[in-house]
Amino acid sequence: MAHGNGFFEGATGFHRKTGTAPRPAASRKCDTAAAPEPRSGAPGLEKRRPFCHDEGMRVPGSGLVSGLAATARTAARRAVTSQYPEREPELPDRARGVIALHESNCTSCMLCARECPDWCIYIDSHKETVEVEGAARPRQVNVLDRFDIDFSLCMYCGICVDVCPFDALFWAPDFAYAEGDIRDLLHGKGRLGEWMGNVPPAALPEADA
Ligand code: SF4
Ligand code: SF4
Repeated sequence: MAHGNGFFEGATGFHRKTGTAPRPAASRKCDTAAAPEPRSGAPGLEKRRPFCHDEGMRVPGSGLVSGLAATARTAARRAVTSQYPEREPELPDRARGVIALHESNCTSCMLCARECPDWCIYIDSHKETVEVEGAARPRQVNVLDRFDIDFSLCMYCGICVDVCPFDALFWAPDFAYAEGDIRDLLHGKGRLGEWMGNVPPAALPEADA
């Protein structure tokens, strides 16, 4: 067969310029050309082994031995799972399990409800006039009527906890409050207040710790 560069190869593949004959196909062990190239830039993809058509014969039972070896290796490895609920997990202090409300600190300023990206905080309040000892005039205070968080909508971003200027919201590590009815995931101020008992002391302001 003639090529544009003047080289000729016969039917046997003999190269006239170099005088070399191609390796007989029978002596080839691996067809590297047939091996698919790894995708460039794909992390973790190493160059694959070439396809080998006539690898040496496997020793009978070697697959069984290598399988048992893999089982033994895995059995000796330390387990990364824990037997929940028999064993409670040790959660870090900053775990975002549930949001707790320190009701007496809440001024009903609505900042958390306005900043919540999911709009899942519902607050109602009314004003009351209270006499303060030593004050010249009575004061008006906001009294919280309703403070609900809908945990079926909450995405645990923590914005409400971060923006509260009066240290009224905290993360408690409790996570096991799943419900059979999605409507029961609406926690009112009573339930949110109960979570306060589980807030790690390190998360509380110094006066409350
Ligand atoms: S954690 Fe985020 S989504 Fe959940 S109530 Fe707070 S601000 Fe809203
Ligand atoms: S929890 Fe904090 S941010 Fe939300 S209404 Fe109460 S004081 Fe304001």
